[in-house]
Amino acid sequence: MKLYKVDAIVLRSIECGGGDKLLVLFSREFGKMRVMAHGVTKPFSRKRGSVQPFTYTKFLVRRGRELDSVSQCEGIEMFPFLRHDLETIGYASYLTELVLSLTPEGEQNEPLFRLILETLQLMEEGQAEILTRSFEIKAAALMGYRPILDVCAHCGEPLTGRLFFSVETGGALCEVCGKGDPQAVHVSRGVVENLKALLSWPQDRLRQLRISSADRKQIKTLLYEYLKYYLERDLKSVSFLNRFTVDP
Ligand SMILES: [Zn+2]
Repeated sequence: MKLYKVDAIVLRSIECGGGDKLLVLFSREFGKMRVMAHGVTKPFSRKRGSVQPFTYTKFLVRRGRELDSVSQCEGIEMFPFLRHDLETIGYASYLTELVLSLTPEGEQNEPLFRLILETLQLMEEGQAEILTRSFEIKAAALMGYRPILDVCAHCGEPLTGRLFFSVETGGALCEVCGKGDPQAVHVSRGVVENLKALLSWPQDRLRQLRISSADRKQIKTLLYEYLKYYLERDLKSVSFLNRFTVDP
């Protein structure tokens, strides 16, 4: 079969000269993949709009010897709002970079595909920061690094007393374990409850979640450290994360 269809979000599009672009897609069918789009930067190209980053597009792809190439494409959702507001652009870029770093090429992950699509759709109504935090923790879980938040991640007992969080142990710690772990940081019960909500609530319910600015700050740092720890083997991913230590 020379042609096949994919539904995909354009994560990155790189100009290659001669009107061509190399696209990195996150597809429902095959996860992350690279395809060549010929002639798309030419002014008369009808494909132009549907190969921009953050666009959700239906592609008809032709198999090639080295790289597959776009035969036809049709934009399903262009997310115009993502291109107008700088703060939202920052969050959307961060999400796409995160998917680029977290996912191996050619491995299907439909829940992650649905998660990024829904998150981009919901960003139109604002709440980009909370949606991003929720995306981070859910994406970590979908990649096999689900944090333990219901019981102590170390001893498995109920979470009592002052609470701690340990990136290395992979979740919340009770007072006894927390005090014995030099890497663990103290967190309020509210932070643990908010992390649980970010992990388990559907994205479209998150607007009901109220998180104080102090808790938001700590959650941001915790999730940053958490993702960094699990991406550490890939130096490129860490340097990418470092670029996002400052709010977009
Ligand atoms: Zn414990």
